Amino acid sequence: MSNQASNEQSADCLFCKIIAGDIPSNKVYSDDDVYAFHDINPAAPQHVLIIPKKHLTDVRSANEEDQALMGKLLLKANDLAKELGLDEKGFRYVINTGEYGGQTVFHLHLHILGGRALGWPPG
Ligand code: AMP
Ligand code: ZN
Repeated sequence: MSNQASNEQSADCLFCKIIAGDIPSNKVYSDDDVYAFHDINPAAPQHVLIIPKKHLTDVRSANEEDQALMGKLLLKANDLAKELGLDEKGFRYVINTGEYGGQTVFHLHLHILGGRALGWPPG
């Protein structure tokens, strides 16, 4: 999974550039498959993005070969939520997808939001 992941990046993608270190980020976690960093414009006291190192445009782009990677993304998010101290009070995961989903960066990312009570439903 790892070698394949690191070979599949997109030259024009902001988050691929962050993974490559060409654009700075406030790193939270990195391994061969996923990268996590603080959101530059936090929507909550804790706002971390976790992304696959493999460039996937959005969650719709994931297919069967990405099954393990998708599972890892979610389980690693659980680890990070715990490390960020969000376990007790709870938190929210968000994957904005496409135009109506409000996606603005077209490299799959899971938002980890916590540290305050979050409203529902979204506007
Ligand atoms: P989305 O609207 O779901 O596509 O989320 C994109 C997120 O990326 C937003 O929450 C932005 O604040 C965040 N973002 C954009 N540029 C950067 C950056 N250079 N470093 C960290 N987060 C960023
Ligand atoms: Zn990318």
